[in-house]
Amino acid sequence: MILLNPKRLESLPLDQRSREIVEKTVAFFEAKGLAKLKQDDFDRTWYADFLEFLKKERVFADLLTPRSLGGEDARWDTFRNTFFNEVLGFYGLCYWYAWQVSILGLGPLWMSPNERMKKKAAAALEEGGIFAFGLSEKEHGADIYSSEMALHPQADGSFLARGSKYYIGNGNEAAIVSVFGKVAGTDDYVFFAADPKRKGYELVKNVCASQSYVAEFRLDDYPVAADEVLIRGKEAWNAALNTVNVGKYNLGWASIGISTHALYEAIAHAANRRLYGMAVTDFPHVARMFTDAWCRLVAMKLFALRASDYQRSASLEDRRYLLYNPVVKMKVTTEGEKVVDLLWDVIAAKGFEKDVWFEMAARDIRALPKLEGTVHVNIALIIKFMVNALFRPAALPEIPRRTDAVHDAFLFDQGPASGLGKIRFHDMDPAFARFAHLPNVALFQGQLRSLKGMLVAAAPSEGQQKDIDLLLAVGELFTLVVYAQLVLEAVPGSGLSDDAVDQLFDLLVRDLSEYALKFHGRSGATAKQAELALGLVRRPVFDARRFEAVWKGEVLPLKDAYKMNP
Ligand SMILES: Cc1cc2nc3c(=O)[nH]c(=O)nc-3n(C[C@H](O)[C@H](O)[C@H](O)COP(=O)(O)OP(=O)(O)OC[C@H]3O[C@@H](n4cnc5c(N)ncnc54)[C@H](O)[C@@H]3O)c2cc1C
Repeated sequence: MILLNPKRLESLPLDQRSREIVEKTVAFFEAKGLAKLKQDDFDRTWYADFLEFLKKERVFADLLTPRSLGGEDARWDTFRNTFFNEVLGFYGLCYWYAWQVSILGLGPLWMSPNERMKKKAAAALEEGGIFAFGLSEKEHGADIYSSEMALHPQADGSFLARGSKYYIGNGNEAAIVSVFGKVAGTDDYVFFAADPKRKGYELVKNVCASQSYVAEFRLDDYPVAADEVLIRGKEAWNAALNTVNVGKYNLGWASIGISTHALYEAIAHAANRRLYGMAVTDFPHVARMFTDAWCRLVAMKLFALRASDYQRSASLEDRRYLLYNPVVKMKVTTEGEKVVDLLWDVIAAKGFEKDVWFEMAARDIRALPKLEGTVHVNIALIIKFMVNALFRPAALPEIPRRTDAVHDAFLFDQGPASGLGKIRFHDMDPAFARFAHLPNVALFQGQLRSLKGMLVAAAPSEGQQKDIDLLLAVGELFTLVVYAQLVLEAVPGSGLSDDAVDQLFDLLVRDLSEYALKFHGRSGATAKQAELALGLVRRPVFDARRFEAVWKGEVLPLKDAYKMNP
């Protein structure tokens, strides 16, 4: 069973403690029930009950503390964290957000050489603390070079912090806020620890109308002791980017969780609704939309699982995760939007009702592509890897499935955030060749050859490489190729049938054609590039037997699979 079903957790591939955490978290939400969950959402109730549960069960203490600083079950294990991530997305984005910003806040702490503050963070986790990441500022958005928060050195070696931060999750109640800024009078970047309870930390407001607290706060001569500085100089800059490298991976899982819950609700509704004497799911277009939604969701999950393997196996010599994590961030989350769009088009008015979970999904699924770097910022990053990934494959170790129960230490020792152009990738062809017996995978291979041919025959000129609008269109094509590659790498052992993989590639062939057409229409493309782009367009191979096998065998049975407790 590839999709999460909270009522069927018996086959989770986790050790006892990790399974216990997932089961207890599911039990917490199911005991809370849909009605109370929704009421808290409408009332924007701060989720104190959830935080109490986390504290009692020592959830963050085990999932987010390095082994060396925590108890015997403590480790930062990306594989097991994906399950917790997905469950939180499945029940509510605000709960997931409290976890996500804690992860971001802990990044600079675990990357810091400051052992005293690390021990303090570990003790706070034991006590059920949450954390915050104070990077963004109101006026500067993605441009963190322009950060104005400043630490002013004092004669005794301490500092006074002056400045403000905006959009900082948990900024109201975090045990420690990791704040980014500069040391006044120098070019040194810095991360320091702040405490919302201390004098000089002024909580201005919650910027969003939400259960979450997305804080604006101001530091007015807030005192920072020398040993509250976490990281200074180039290392602080690296820590900001390296923390986001880790955090952005989780956004995909929030989208997967949301989309999965939305799918269960939507298909149960459509299958049980009778119009003109038949079930809504008997309409051929509805069957197609649900099957597309399911294929999109399965691909999202396969890609994110495979990306975890590369992240867990990363080293200074193997930084392939720096391509795959932004693809999780940008592609998996935008695919989540498409899943929810498809489902909403089917269930229509039902998706507005206050008593259904879907209404939250329709709102929250939009958040993930926009936060922690927009889609554009991530495609601009992804495109930097295109030449090496497509044209200069290197002999690199084959990365196995990484389900082992170990601490992912490299995530907190990622080294310089530069040198992206030097990162090499393994040959993508074998992933496709293994499934080339499936007609739509073979078609996709042909599209990939045409894409490479187009990029060689009409490579973007120097001037075109400054045209971000055009580069984003190329980036969408390249991203889809990488996406398809890792999806196929994740298929063996997933239990997916050949029919399902072929149906999934029916969709990806259509998607690649659509992106080619988008590129064709860009004003920045030359006539030759526009013409070659049309050569990427293919019509998928349709097979009625295969479609029925997936629709009736995999998708439609989900109508009876899961319903949240009332
Ligand atoms: C609910 C919520 C929670 C958040 N939580 C936190 C948090 O806990 N901590 C924190 O530090 N921040 C947080 N943020 C801030 C969030 O990360 C930023 O909103 C996000 O990074 C984008 O910044 P922006 O929205 O201001 O867009 P802007 O930076 O203003 O971007 C404007 C436009 O320019 C484009 N653009 C900018 N730079 C580039 C580039 N290099 N290449 C191509 N296009 C570019 C963007 O894609 C966008 O279309 C949160 C925001 C929200 C809404």
